[in-house]
Amino acid sequence: MTFGLLLLLSTIITVKAESSAHLSKNLAEKLKYADQIRSSDPELSNTLLLELQKQKEQLTLEQQLYLKYLLAYQLTFQGNPDEGLKQFKELIESKASESLKFRASITIINTLANTQKWNEGLTYLSKALELLPSIENKEIMQTGLMVAANFYNQLGQYDLGYKYAEKLSLLPINDRNLCLSKGVIIEAKINLELLAENSDEIKQGIKICDKVGESLMSSFIRSFLIRLHISNQHADKALNILLPNLEVVENSHYPRLIIIFYSSIAKAYSLKQNYIESEKYALKTIAQAELLGASQPVVQAYEILYQIAEQRKDFKLALEYHVKYTKANKTYLDNIKTKHLAYQLAEHQAIEQETRIQLLDEQNKLLRVEQDLAQAEAENNKLFISLLIALSTLLIFWAYKSRLTQKRLRQMAEYDALTGIYNRGHFTQLALSSLEYCQSSNLPLSCILFDLDKFKNINDSYGHTCGDWVLKKTADVCRNIGRKNDIFVRLGGEEFCIFLPGCDLPTAKEFAELCRREIAAIDCSESGANFNVTASFGITTAQLSGFDLDKIIADADQAMYSSKNNGRNQVSLFTP
Ligand code: GH3
Ligand code: MG
Ligand code: MG
Repeated sequence: MTFGLLLLLSTIITVKAESSAHLSKNLAEKLKYADQIRSSDPELSNTLLLELQKQKEQLTLEQQLYLKYLLAYQLTFQGNPDEGLKQFKELIESKASESLKFRASITIINTLANTQKWNEGLTYLSKALELLPSIENKEIMQTGLMVAANFYNQLGQYDLGYKYAEKLSLLPINDRNLCLSKGVIIEAKINLELLAENSDEIKQGIKICDKVGESLMSSFIRSFLIRLHISNQHADKALNILLPNLEVVENSHYPRLIIIFYSSIAKAYSLKQNYIESEKYALKTIAQAELLGASQPVVQAYEILYQIAEQRKDFKLALEYHVKYTKANKTYLDNIKTKHLAYQLAEHQAIEQETRIQLLDEQNKLLRVEQDLAQAEAENNKLFISLLIALSTLLIFWAYKSRLTQKRLRQMAEYDALTGIYNRGHFTQLALSSLEYCQSSNLPLSCILFDLDKFKNINDSYGHTCGDWVLKKTADVCRNIGRKNDIFVRLGGEEFCIFLPGCDLPTAKEFAELCRREIAAIDCSESGANFNVTASFGITTAQLSGFDLDKIIADADQAMYSSKNNGRNQVSLFTP
């Protein structure tokens, strides 16, 4: 109903300026001035824009975009709204400042409302409302609120229109903006049936607008009041407002406001049964509305016309008007339906988007949890692997250590620490098994036992360390003589034994002689002292002593003592 209001609202931030002052202005000022006067003095504004276009190269990028905005505005409201719309859309995608982009979207919204493209309008509106909190320029922000309020009103969503206009009216705004917001609030409230004919708010709105010279808005508010009067059948009250203000309205050049007045006058006169005047204004309505399409004033005008024709019994004309009335009414109702559908669709889309966002949020949360889990798992695996490596290292180290320990223990258990040959314990095991083997295999076995001579003297004369050196040296020389299978043992102290499996007596004797000579040949000067070492040997065999180990040892010992007794450093055979 209030399409004309759009132009007015788009110019909310214009300031009435003195003309002729533009002549001495620089480019920036010229741009600003052309902006300020674009609705109050469109002709001068156009001249300025033409001049600016010629000086385009001298403008900064931001100034060029500003100029583009003003030219787009000029196109939109002075002839080519489609091209204007295109330019505004380009501006929104450009590097223009946020506020210029916001102004462009505001005008787009108005243009789309004007061309009844509600769906697209709602899309831009929701974008603009998102931008709204970031707009620092108060006037531009207020224009945004106003455009939102008016757009919702036109869409028939009066509660939203009321909400945004109310927001605006609560801000510290100037009287002009207060007038405009009052206009939108009153329109919304009347449609929400919140205002009565005699409401002070309506009177106040008209007063505020008249005060600031906004005759257009005061006329619109009057038109709302007129509608209330007419719907209450108060024809005179309506005419009392309509007729005195008709001239102002006719001079406004706002066809949509003009047809509201014409149509309302026609209706008021028809209520008063003044059909001549009623018909006159109904026809004026239709003539004026020719290019505007279906609207409530047109529907009302056709209704009046067919009723008047009917009364005059001119049924042919009545039918003609009735057809037009029905058609206009249908289009008008369809338009209302379209608006409602557009709004419902937008709401539905908003809900759907919200649901989708929620769903995405949930999915994101899930992904994050999964990611955390994977990370934790990876961390666990890393820890587990580290632990495994540490454990295996420990295990390998431990195995190695235990092998070393075992080896050392075995060494300790099997070998004599000083000489490195078998000790008595291990010797016993080996000797027993070789005895068994030789017995079962019917092999000879010999045993040589020897004891160092006067060893105590060496200890006493040259010290215990020297004694130890002699013991080691003795073991070394005899070991080198021995065969692989021979069992060489230190029985204790300075007493040694060589167990010779598979060896007969003559060989054993030779072997003992060799040992005796090697011991006697030890060069003791290496120990740091000068002395001789000798040993006394006793030999027996399994053939002589049997296969009992203790008996063999005892018999060899006995033979060894014979050597001692016979002057030492000699080999004696056991004689049973
Ligand atoms: P004989 O010719 O009659 O065998 O006289 P001997 O002095 O060798 O005999 P005796 O049994 O009186 O002395 C053996 C000495 O050997 C006594 C002991 O101190 C010494 N002896 C025993 N074991 C060790 C040892 O591991 N190291 C050293 N340095 N001396 C030892
Ligand atoms: Mg001895
Ligand atoms: Mg001795």
